Amino acid sequence: MTELKKSDPEIYNAVVGEIERERDKIVLIASENYASRAVLEAQGSVFTNKYAEGYPNKRYYGGCEYADVVETLAIERAKKLFGAEHVNVQPHSGTQANMAVYFSVLKPKDRILGLSLSHGGHLSHGVQANFSGILYKTFSYGVDKKTGLIDYDNVRKLANRHKPKILLAGASAYSRIIDFKILSGIAKEVNAYFLADIAHIAGLIATGNHPSPVPYADFVTTTTHKTLRGPRGGMIMCKAEYARAVDKMVFPGLQGGPLMHVIAAKAVALREAMTPEFKRYQLQIIKNARELAGALAGRGFKIISGGTDTHLMLIDLTGNNITGKEAEAALDSAGITVNKNSIPYDTLPATITSGIRIGTPIVTSRKMKEPEMVIIADLISRVLNDPENTTLINQVRDKVKVLCRKFPVYEDIEI
Ligand SMILES: *Cc1c(COP(=O)(O)O)cnc(C)c1O
Repeated sequence: MTELKKSDPEIYNAVVGEIERERDKIVLIASENYASRAVLEAQGSVFTNKYAEGYPNKRYYGGCEYADVVETLAIERAKKLFGAEHVNVQPHSGTQANMAVYFSVLKPKDRILGLSLSHGGHLSHGVQANFSGILYKTFSYGVDKKTGLIDYDNVRKLANRHKPKILLAGASAYSRIIDFKILSGIAKEVNAYFLADIAHIAGLIATGNHPSPVPYADFVTTTTHKTLRGPRGGMIMCKAEYARAVDKMVFPGLQGGPLMHVIAAKAVALREAMTPEFKRYQLQIIKNARELAGALAGRGFKIISGGTDTHLMLIDLTGNNITGKEAEAALDSAGITVNKNSIPYDTLPATITSGIRIGTPIVTSRKMKEPEMVIIADLISRVLNDPENTTLINQVRDKVKVLCRKFPVYEDIEI
């Protein structure tokens, strides 16, 4: 980054700081990942200079011959990877992808039914502060208080009562397999469109480590930067009959020019996702999450639903004499980054919470395996049992640094 260093030292220093933070901390944020050097290079390429409004071979700008190459490859790779009939790779984010689907089939005040935010759902699934809650009449289903699992009979009951036009599946903090087949059946019964938002689990689905909703869903939306390990962005898959409506709503409906550098990076990530290495990587993410959940449970932590089938787990801290906010702060000062997270039926506000969410995509990208998960569980447990002990926090931070050094990120990066 010699040019950046010269021309803008403030931004240069922040980038260096971020490189060091990602390198020296154990990051367990379930929605994040470390993209490959190839993805970073594509995203940092000259495609950031190009306007390409429209779609491949139907552009509103000249000079799109290479833009067409990357967008066509991204689309074809996504179709092949997920078995989708139609793909749009232009949404700038997961929320934009959901917005485009809603706008393509809903009118303001139409009804949507999705998983409650406080039970693991996402803002864009009908939360009042979000456009989805502002524009539409939104209803939510939750998880069972005892089991922590989605109560499908209750979803059916609510769907029959509220008659949503879209039934939504998908979550940001749900650790178990989602039965897309059952949910698509419920959508059919009430004549609703079925939208599966696989933002978190796209990588697991792409590699057969979680059942795919693609055969059952009218629409499937995703981000490309979570388990899929691509650049930050969104993507829509849908049945062929909705292709025109979706494409028209993304552009010109909601967006102007696509981010061609991001689309180039999406194409790179989608190619990586077809490799046997990526398949092994996704399986290891799950094995690591299981190991970590088991090791934490063995140290007296309550895991919502008792464990995990995916890349993440939700820890219920109500029995540990610490809030989610305090746990997040104590762990971060020890070099372990997690996020506070509401647990189902939480009695504390979302700014404090009674839980933390932990995910294994990043530590698995660093090639950590089960033995390291046991070490991490031990470090987490020590900090959360004695969060004000600064000597202990410093000891843990040193141990974190040693572990991180053994599992480097971007080894050849020059700063
Ligand atoms: C992360 C996420 C999104 C949105 O992603 P952004 O790119 O941050 O807008 C949408 N849905 C679910 C379920 C998510 O977890």
